[in-house]
Amino acid sequence: MKMRILLGVALMMATPIAAQQAAPKPETIRVGTVTEVWVLQETSGQGNTGVLVDAPAQVLADHASDDTFPNATNAVLVRSGDEVTLIDTGYGRTIFDKMAALGIAPEDVDRVLLTHMHGDHIGGMLRDGAKAFPNAKVALSQREYDHFNSTGNEAALKIFEAYKGSLEMLSPVEITSSFDQGITPIAAWGHTPGHTIFMIRDGYEQLLVWGDVTHAMAIQMPHPEISVRYDADPAVARDSRLAVLRVVAAEKIPVVGMHIPATMPGVVSANGEGGYSFRVR
Ligand SMILES: [Zn+2]
Repeated sequence: MKMRILLGVALMMATPIAAQQAAPKPETIRVGTVTEVWVLQETSGQGNTGVLVDAPAQVLADHASDDTFPNATNAVLVRSGDEVTLIDTGYGRTIFDKMAALGIAPEDVDRVLLTHMHGDHIGGMLRDGAKAFPNAKVALSQREYDHFNSTGNEAALKIFEAYKGSLEMLSPVEITSSFDQGITPIAAWGHTPGHTIFMIRDGYEQLLVWGDVTHAMAIQMPHPEISVRYDADPAVARDSRLAVLRVVAAEKIPVVGMHIPATMPGVVSANGEGGYSFRVR
């Protein structure tokens, strides 16, 4: 413990010099006593409502009158004690600079957890065709692996090949109201066949990293029944979204996500009309 305190002081003293050139340091989210989390935001901008499946005109008029909604692409970095875990990698454009600003090198990553195998989540896995995270175990759900392996998805196969020997297959659990300490994989099928989200727990505090449970917060929070064209099975994705929302609202579990346009956690509340609201704390 003493070592960690001394190291912390050394890093604080080094910050003013390092900060002159480095990317801005992402804001720290604390979970419990030893866990720190950072949302590494790669893109932020406006999405187009054309991605929504069967959204009623009135819903669009109410929540996206100019046919757009705020959107983002994020990855999430977790440090708990000496253990560094990256959840997804975004497109792999700016996560490495953001990690460097936090003093974390790709070699320091012990584990990469993948929510699913879409390009905006796995884009940072390889550099020049080789492992971007040379010391990391890479974990994803067995279902996701089986699907992308059997369909011969080129980007996925390259990653599976590069990390062969370091792959771990996860068996995500159903979402409930209590979770083990550490990081628990939870099934949120539908966006892809094996889409997996991750609950972080340290002591009595929790933070849910909900991956692609939503893509258009402005519309899908008040109307979670609406899916997007990226969802492989829109009906299953809707059922997963509704199950996740019910639990995080009832348990007041803070949430970050890969397409939530925020870098700090938000809290979900039922809005009394069958939908939800999302407020960044
Ligand atoms: Zn995505």
